[in-house]
Amino acid sequence: MHNPYYSRTDTTHLNVSNAEWKKILPADLYAVAREQATERAFTGKYWDADTKGTYYCAVCGNKLFRSDAKFASSCGWPSFFEADRPNSVIYKEDNSYGMQRIEVECARCNSHLGHIFDDGPPPTGKRFCMNSVSLDFEPDGH
Ligand code: FE
Repeated sequence: MHNPYYSRTDTTHLNVSNAEWKKILPADLYAVAREQATERAFTGKYWDADTKGTYYCAVCGNKLFRSDAKFASSCGWPSFFEADRPNSVIYKEDNSYGMQRIEVECARCNSHLGHIFDDGPPPTGKRFCMNSVSLDFEPDGH
């Protein structure tokens, strides 16, 4: 279904209900983005990708990561050491499943992207562990 909220240029914060998103988003994206599901490791389309380009939020088009910040990780999910802009994502405490983790959400649409951990490479030492399904990739030069 057409997603009228998707824009790679409009950074206005979105307040869209899950009932509305459910009508618009594919089921696999809805489950991760709006219900905090996690795609199975090594199954997503970007965990092993190293093409140069930009990663956008698959729900709303918000610019999230550059391929320059992506690193080869053995975890099975696309991993980045920093966000494109400090305010492109927001962080929330997540104590589900008996773990203390920091959830990463898209700052524009508040969709779940994944989690952030402290075992990433320099220069930040962070590992943004993202779900492929939550990301839209645009190769450079397109
Ligand atoms: Fe978004």
